[in-house]
Amino acid sequence: MLTFNGYSVNGWGIIQQMNSKNHNSTFTYQNGHGYARIGQLKTRAGVVRTPTFMPDATRGAVKGLQPEQVYATGVQIVLNNTYHLHLQPGEAVVKRLGGVHHFGKWTGPILTDSGGFQVFSLDKFAKVTEDGVAFKDPINGDKRLITPEKSMQIQFELGSDMFVAFDHLIGLDDAKPSEVLDAFERTHRWLKRCVTEFKRLTAHLAPEERPMLFGVVQGGLDKELRKRSLDLVMASEVDGIAIGGLSVGEPRADMHDMLEYLAPLYGDDPRPRFLLGVGDPIDLRKAIECGIDMLDCVLPTRNARHATIWVSGDQKIHLTNGRFVDDPEPIEPGCDCATCVAGYSKGFLRHLFKAGDPLAGSLASIHNLRYLTRICEKYQTQDFKRSDN
Ligand SMILES: [Zn+2]
Repeated sequence: MLTFNGYSVNGWGIIQQMNSKNHNSTFTYQNGHGYARIGQLKTRAGVVRTPTFMPDATRGAVKGLQPEQVYATGVQIVLNNTYHLHLQPGEAVVKRLGGVHHFGKWTGPILTDSGGFQVFSLDKFAKVTEDGVAFKDPINGDKRLITPEKSMQIQFELGSDMFVAFDHLIGLDDAKPSEVLDAFERTHRWLKRCVTEFKRLTAHLAPEERPMLFGVVQGGLDKELRKRSLDLVMASEVDGIAIGGLSVGEPRADMHDMLEYLAPLYGDDPRPRFLLGVGDPIDLRKAIECGIDMLDCVLPTRNARHATIWVSGDQKIHLTNGRFVDDPEPIEPGCDCATCVAGYSKGFLRHLFKAGDPLAGSLASIHNLRYLTRICEKYQTQDFKRSDN
C-alpha cells in the first residue's frame, strides 16, 4: 500500500483518505473511460455516489420542484447560492428557521457556493480590495462587503455541508494577462484566510459533524497559472478541489482542452473534485472522463422552464415547436423520468408552455434532471460501455 501526504492507495487503485479529520471518501478509477472514477463521497449529511450532478436550488428550492420530486430524479446533492440567501432572507433568518436543510426540506447534502461568482457577475461596479469585494445590494441599493471571512461565516450560519472558498473571479473575455495574474494571486491569499476562518468556525464540532471546505482553482485559460493554482489548492488544508472560471463564455473546445490538461495533474489526490457551473450533457461527459466527481449548473432547470429539453444523443428539442401540437407521445418514450412515465404528451406540454402554466417548467425540469443523473449513474457502473451511452 502506497502512502503519501496522509493518504493511502491500495493495489486496486482504490484511494482512501487516511487519518482524515472526518471524511473517509473513496474513489475508484473506472476502466476504459479516461480518468473517470467511481466514488463514495462521505459528507456529514450522508454518502453520495459519484460522479454526481447537483442542480442549483438557488434560493433554497430547485425552482418549481418539491424535494421529493428532485430526489425522484436521482439527484443526491443540491447547491444553494450564498449570495442570494445572504441578501434575502439573510443567513440569520435561515438559521432561526432551522438552517438550509430544515428551511427548504432537503435532507440530503447541501453545497453552498462562496457568493463570489454573483458578486462579480451581477454588479459590474463591484470594487475589489485586498479586504474583500464591495458591491451594491440590488434589492435596496445598500452598500455591502463580502470578505473571505464573511463568506465562510455566511455559509456556516446557513448550515451548509460543503463550503466553497471565496475567490476573485474575472471574466475570460476581456481580462488582460495582468488582471488574470492579479486575481490568481489574490485568490490564493484569500484561500489562506478562508481556511483559517473555516477552522475557527468548526473547531468545536465533532469530526462527523464537520462540514467540508473546497478550495477553488483559477487561472483562466493559462495552463501554467492553472497548474500553479492547482498545486496551491492541493497543498492547502481543504477537503475538496473546485475548478472555477470555466464555462464562462469561452469556446467549448478551450474548456475541454483545459479539463484534459488538468486531468493527469490531480495525481492520486483522493479529495473530491468539483467543476463549477457546467451542466450541458456533452460537457458533463467530458468532465467526468477528465476525473471530475461533482458538477453543478442552472442549465437543466433553466432550459426546461424555457421549454428546451434533452433527448437521446444529447439533442435539444423545443417543446413549443408547432410540430408537437398533436403529438400524443411522451417527451422520450422509454425515458424513466416521472414526467415520461406518467405519460404527459408533448402536445399537452406544448399547450401548457403556450398557456404559461408553471407546471410545464416543472415537468420539463424533471425530465432534464433525470437525463443528467442517468448519465452520472451509468458512469457509476464499472462495466459501463460507450455503446450503453
Ligand atoms: Zn423523461
